[in-house]
This record gives sequence, C-alpha cells and structure tokens, in this order.
Amino acid sequence: MQKDKASTFKKLQQNIQIIGEQDILPYTRTWDETQTFPKTLFQKLGQKGLLGIIAPQKYGGQALNYTAYVEAIIHLATFDGAIAMSVAAHNSLALEHLIQFGNTAQKEQWAQSLIKGKCIGAWALTEPNVGSDAAQLQTTAEKKGNHWIIQGEKKFITHGKNSQLAIVMAKTNPKPYTQHNITAFIVDKKNPGISIGKSENKMGMRASETSTLLFQSCKVHEDNMIGTINTGFSQAMEILEGGRISIAALSIGIAKGAFHMALQYAHKRKQFGKRLIDFQGISFKLAEMATQIEAGYLLTLKAAQTKDQKQPVNQIASMAKYHCAETAVAVTNQAVQILGGNGYCKEYLVEKFYRDAKLCTIGEGTSEIQKIIIAKQLMKKYEQTKY
Ligand SMILES: Cc1cc2nc3c(=O)[nH]c(=O)nc-3n(C[C@H](O)[C@H](O)[C@H](O)COP(=O)(O)OP(=O)(O)OC[C@H]3O[C@@H](n4cnc5c(N)ncnc54)[C@H](O)[C@@H]3O)c2cc1C
Repeated sequence: MQKDKASTFKKLQQNIQIIGEQDILPYTRTWDETQTFPKTLFQKLGQKGLLGIIAPQKYGGQALNYTAYVEAIIHLATFDGAIAMSVAAHNSLALEHLIQFGNTAQKEQWAQSLIKGKCIGAWALTEPNVGSDAAQLQTTAEKKGNHWIIQGEKKFITHGKNSQLAIVMAKTNPKPYTQHNITAFIVDKKNPGISIGKSENKMGMRASETSTLLFQSCKVHEDNMIGTINTGFSQAMEILEGGRISIAALSIGIAKGAFHMALQYAHKRKQFGKRLIDFQGISFKLAEMATQIEAGYLLTLKAAQTKDQKQPVNQIASMAKYHCAETAVAVTNQAVQILGGNGYCKEYLVEKFYRDAKLCTIGEGTSEIQKIIIAKQLMKKYEQTKY
C-alpha cells in the first residue's frame, strides 16, 4: 500500500475503534431491541470516512482498495453486525453502482452527499416473487416521452425507508422475460410515485432497516437511467460480486466478535474447580472456531485482492461468501454454547451475534446460490482444460 493510502487506512481503523467503543457499543442492545436504525450515527460515519471507503477522492471518498475496505468492514462488524451490514450495503451496493456505472452528471449530483452521509442509498433488485432468480423480476419501466414510468414492488430493501435515493432494477421491455431487458435507474425518493411499504420485523440485523418500496407510475427522467438500456442485469451481477466479498468480511467480523466474547468468558468462568478453557472440550471448540475464522479471513482477503487486481471474482467471491457466512453461523453458535445459560440471555451480546450471523447465509445470494455459482465455474474450467 502506498504511504498516503496506508495512513488513510490507519486513520480509518482508528476511527472505527473510537466509534465502535463510544458510539456503537453503548447503544447496540437498545437499537437491537427497539429495531432502531441510528440515523445520526450514519452522519458521523460519513464525516469519519466510512461511507465512501472505496469511492474516489474527487467526490470526498477515501479511495482505498477493496482489501482495505474488507478489513474496515471486519473491524466494524466486531462491534455490531447490523451497523456493519448497513455500511457495507451503502458502500458496495448503492454507492458503488453509481460510481462504477453512473455518468459524470449523475455522480456529481449524488456521490458527495452519499459519501458524506448527508444522504443514504438503497439498492433494489429483490421483489416479493423474485429473489434468487433475479432475472425474472417483474417491476417494469416504460418509456413515455423523455421519462420512464416505473411500476412494481421491491422487497427486503436495506435502507428502503431511510434512504434518499434508490438504485432500481426494472424490465424495460416486459417480454420476453430474460436478463437482457433489465435497466438500472436512479430514483430520487422525493419522487411522488415512490412510497415505502412494510418495514420488516427481523430476527437479527435489527439496527439495519429493511423495507418494501412501492412504485406507482413513478416518473423518472431519462437522465436518471444508469448506463445503457438493457444492461442493468449485468451491472447488478457485477455489483453483487463485490457485495459478496463485503458480506464475507461482515461474516468474519461477526464471527471474530463472538469468538472474542467466548474466549474471554472461557478464560474467566470456572466449573468443577477449573476454568472452562482448561477443559479440552472447550479449548478444542475455541481452536476450531479460530481456525475457521482464519481460513475465512484468508479467503476474503484473496477475493478482495483478486478484485483489486481487476481479475474475475465470480467464483472466489462466492467461495468467500459461502464459507464465511456458514463460518459465522457455526462460530456464533459455538460461542453461545460456551457461554452456556448466559449465552442464551440478553445480558451478553453473543446471542445477538448469533442472530445477526444468519443473515449472511441469505442476503446478496443464499449459500445454495453461491454453491451453484462455484459449481458452474468448476464445470466451465473442466470443460475448457479437462482439469
Ligand atoms: C435483511 C435483508 C436485507 C436485504 N437487503 C436487500 C437489498 O438491499 N436489496 C435487495 O435487492 N435485496 C435485499 N435482500 C434480499 C436478499 O438478497 C434475498 O432475500 C435473497 O437473495 C434470497 O431471495 P429470497 O429471499 O427470495 O429467497 P428464494 O429465492 O425464494 O429462496 C428460498 C430458498 O430456496 C433456495 N433456492 C432458490 N433457488 C434455488 C436453486 N436453484 N437451487 C437450490 N436452492 C435454491 C434458496 O437458497 C433459499 O434457501 C435482503 C434480504 C434480507 C433478509
């Protein structure tokens, strides 16, 4: 890493530590119980550089690489997975889509406010009838004069309610239903045709708000189309590849946070006249947890470095996401077990980490979908090389 980037990264990590200790940990339980999205924290995260980690400097971003970005998400997730998830969605979905595929005018209009935390972005692909098979989406955009009219519904949208803009994928020609007639649009939430539907009451990640967006003759000027017509699906898939690396990082951060709580507890708690850590049954659990976390961390770094080298990440991003998400669930489960009754109760945060971890196996493509992607790549390579 260059010297100036290294110092930007160091400062960012210091900011995460301070914000984590002072602005997150004291409130994390309340946010979780009341399912509150902390808007004012997001303004601070913007001021401290966390909402534009990979974005270019000319818009006020930190211009760090993906490797630095995943380290930051891991660190933040050791404090609170829900906050880290919202930060990851903001950086690697909405903002990254705008930066990678938006034109200069679109970036000039939105990028700086997104990066500084003056506004929050949402990224809307999923619908009530369409999740894993996203190419079948049913939201439509029809051209009328120099506007597009969007009709439909987007479900499970992170920041659906609290965002000021949404990047929306819609069919620009309703038939045939293929992936080649989807287009991405920037929709300003001030637009009267967009409204907020149901906000989800979730098992975990409760400080990260998730809502439905409704589009009823939502009129969007043609200047808000991202890239060219019918390229929205390939844009979305490219964005999701990067997003999956950030979910791998989120998973590792959650696993690390829970592991640390379990280690601390096992070191202190005594039963049968010995510390828990002195029982082989518990120390082996900790050894396995630490090894799984380290393996996931290295896979995440490899995926991020591959992205930084501008090499294809389709397979490695899915491997990292699949492995790390399943690791997060397994590690947080064991962490709850090590804390026994205390692990199951809300006085300790480890149960929250367990609930938060489960989202990682679902959001931005389920574990099953990651295995489909990995297997397809294995087959493709075998057919080409017979190896
Ligand atoms: C908290 C949260 C935040 C989210 N944020 C966003 C967001 O910001 N933007 C957005 O667009 N979406 C978002 N999502 C949606 C998320 O990406 C989807 O939930 C996910 O892709 C799965 O889609 P689905 O829920 O419709 O499940 P389905 O696609 O209905 O899948 C149900 C089950 O069937 C399995 N399955 C499906 N197809 C296959 C197959 N071919 N082979 C084997 N198994 C299969 C799945 O793995 C899963 O286990 C969010 C979801 C949650 C819960």
